[in-house]
Amino acid sequence: MLRTVLIESAGLGGQLALTNEINNYPGYVEGNGRELIRNMEEQAREFGVQINTFNRVEEIIPAGSYIGVKAGNAIFPCESVIVAAGRKNKKLGLYNEDNFHNKGISYCALCDGNYFKDKRVAVVGGGDSAVEEAIYLSRIASQVFIIHRRDELRAAGMLQERVAAIKNIKIMRSHVVEGLIGDNMLNGVTVQSLKTNKTSTLTIDGLFVAIGSSPNTGILEGFVELDEGGYVKVNEKMETSISGVFAAGDIRVTPLRQVCTAVGDGAIAAASAERFLSSKNVIDKLNVSNI
Ligand code: NAP
Repeated sequence: MLRTVLIESAGLGGQLALTNEINNYPGYVEGNGRELIRNMEEQAREFGVQINTFNRVEEIIPAGSYIGVKAGNAIFPCESVIVAAGRKNKKLGLYNEDNFHNKGISYCALCDGNYFKDKRVAVVGGGDSAVEEAIYLSRIASQVFIIHRRDELRAAGMLQERVAAIKNIKIMRSHVVEGLIGDNMLNGVTVQSLKTNKTSTLTIDGLFVAIGSSPNTGILEGFVELDEGGYVKVNEKMETSISGVFAAGDIRVTPLRQVCTAVGDGAIAAASAERFLSSKNVIDKLNVSNI
């Protein structure tokens, strides 16, 4: 029998668990990411997946015919591995940014938005994440600013239409955050207009940074082939450059990163892994009782 263990560094769900509205997943008309991931977990458990949360994978070690997955104090001996470790949020890179983390600066509106009830907040970025976060925050905060470095938002047209209709969201196009103001807690930012070069102060209580993310491929560096952005190169079977190692979802080179594409990748990777194991004739022989 094929035995599958899922190792996750935090709780289940990754970015999906932090998504307040899912409106582009087939058959899912209303609902949030937490509900969707709960259903996925229940289904996976029914199929016998062993779920191991709050256990960070530190290393993937090729060891002869096995691949060792080192997490915590254990090494999981595997015949095949699917890496679906997703992405982490990018920072602005301002010198005092870390000092204000959780003191006015957040990288997750869904996690921290409720601390800003009836306050003034800004979201940096112009992609789907920034616009979705601004829409979510507009229901909690009194005023939301979107600070975007270009004239045009990158977000999907549908999101742009929605944001344009929300009265307490103001979009500051062609602006960048230059500095963070506050002693202990953030109470404002300096912003520069890229059109006029003028700098002004924006009084806010919260700054949500949504400027994209980078792949969690640290454990794969030097092991499988990555592109210049650090994303895993795969073929249409989700095979990486190392036999028996597959990648799926946001971590791989792909033109679209959504739940539906990640799920599709996962299905292909799982089928490919199963075929790989059958071809090696290892199913039924695996001894993973020490997991
Ligand atoms: P993104 O699409 O890469 O957008 C990042 C935004 O931040 C861009 O507008 C970019 O500006 C701006 N930016 C980047 N670095 C910056 C910096 N240093 N200072 C100021 N602004 C900066 O990232 P994302 O919005 O997180 O989305 C990532 C992927 O997930 C996308 O494929 C997106 O479609 C997908 N996603 C989908 C959904 C959904 O389907 N509901 C929700 C969230 C995300 P420029 O525009 O000038 O490059």
